[in-house]
Amino acid sequence: MTPDATGVVYLVGAGPGDPGLLTLRGAELLVTCDAIVHDALANPALLSLASVTERDAPVELHDVGKRGGADESARQSGINALLVRLGQEGKRVARLKGGDPFVFGRGGEEAQALAAAGVPFEIVPGVTAGIGAAAYAGIPVTHRGIASSVTFVTGREQSVGRTRIAEWTAIARTGGTIVLYMGVSTLTQVLTALVDAGVAADTPAAAVEWGTYPRQRTVVATAATLADEVARTGLSAPVITIVGDVVALRHEISWFERRPLFGKRIVVTRAREQAAVLADRLAAAGAEVFEMPATRVEPLDPAALRRAIGRLPEYQWAIFTSQNAVRLVWDELRHCKLDARALAGIKVGAIGPATAEALRDRGIEPDVMPHRFVAEAMLDALRVRADLRGARVLYATAEDARRVLPDGLVMLGAVVDVVPIYRSVMDAAGSAELRARLDAGDVDLVTFTSASGVEAFVVAVGEAAARRAPAASIGPITSEAARRAGLDVIVEAEQSTMAGLVSAIARKLRAPE
Ligand code: SAH
Repeated sequence: MTPDATGVVYLVGAGPGDPGLLTLRGAELLVTCDAIVHDALANPALLSLASVTERDAPVELHDVGKRGGADESARQSGINALLVRLGQEGKRVARLKGGDPFVFGRGGEEAQALAAAGVPFEIVPGVTAGIGAAAYAGIPVTHRGIASSVTFVTGREQSVGRTRIAEWTAIARTGGTIVLYMGVSTLTQVLTALVDAGVAADTPAAAVEWGTYPRQRTVVATAATLADEVARTGLSAPVITIVGDVVALRHEISWFERRPLFGKRIVVTRAREQAAVLADRLAAAGAEVFEMPATRVEPLDPAALRRAIGRLPEYQWAIFTSQNAVRLVWDELRHCKLDARALAGIKVGAIGPATAEALRDRGIEPDVMPHRFVAEAMLDALRVRADLRGARVLYATAEDARRVLPDGLVMLGAVVDVVPIYRSVMDAAGSAELRARLDAGDVDLVTFTSASGVEAFVVAVGEAAARRAPAASIGPITSEAARRAGLDVIVEAEQSTMAGLVSAIARKLRAPE
């Protein structure tokens, strides 16, 4: 950053919590800005966007989210001064604020300070909690024939005193939906004021804690009873309270909390490149997912593979047991200025639909694809064929792959070249955090999609912690490895695919209606 460059401060709405509710503009700024100044209520998961590198130097992070203690207005002027200083230093600054920056977020004050100091700024609106948390609780804030207006109001101490009786009366008279920010501690006072001002005591009312997060909790009662219900169930900030007949619609259109894995905390152990697919599916089913990459694919020296590729015409068969193997073989083919035609005349076997799909993506339809996705099933499928006897088979695979397949092929009379092309290595990052979570009993299930994943997990967190949560496995071989490690396997996929694993988990853990 050159000293004379002009800084810009972006007041960015982070949305209520679910990272998917950040705007595209917000995401783009988090990826490219020089500094991020963030709040307690902006989901820390968003900060991982900031580590995506589209910048030369690492991003400068300022956490100004400490709550309580310090005098609130002193704290706010400190933040204003920080934003002005960073802007004057010529930096592009994302000021990440929970929800929308201009809805009870003091974003207006920050913009005033920037304007007064002559620092350029932009506003990136966000999904405000009053709309986002309500939507995730299945409550539309307006609804034809039920509510034609909505009032956003703060329940902070300073705002609920006698002076506001007139305002409560006016709000009550609108007959529309009332959405209350803050004010868990003042809830009794506020709801009493509303009922006194004319809101019917039996008007449906809901409180949504940690709205849009996997740990969202919703309590439904009436204007007269909600405060007691909230106290009884122990909801605490952040909570959005919604008062109005629209709350009754939740019966029909609650969706977020009804997903099969809602509220379940599930660890995904898989190579980083592939964790996303499983994690996405689990999250889509409502689980809170902790991605804990147990292993990572590390390509080996390609010399052996290169030699095998040089001798491709000598092979009659090639067997692929993972998409990693397909990818690495194709990388090497490309390196040798070859393509799928180099495999012309070679029969191809694939274990697992993802492996088959990776081959199809590269123009190869597998000749043999066993229904079960284990080496034994591949051998069964090959045993019925006559063309393995005397055939030369290329098997490019993980360094530590099981011997079942090559040994079985030799028994069928084939000549097998096992070419190690990658190894799975443990990724230690995050192990300590995972161990703490397991020790605290904060994990409902750990998923495994390979025997090496089981081993890596046990090595990463230690045997004792590894046994604290039950396991879900993608198939019999992985289950066996997990049991051998002393884990309690409570789910095994019937179909050894990511989708099969997710539906088996959902069947087992589905929250009772
Ligand atoms: N600018 C924010 C509001 C900041 S005031 C916005 O537009 O959403 C802080 C209050 O917002 C909290 O006390 C709570 O009432 C509400 N809030 C913010 N995030 C929330 C969430 N995920 N769930 C429930 N309430 C939330």
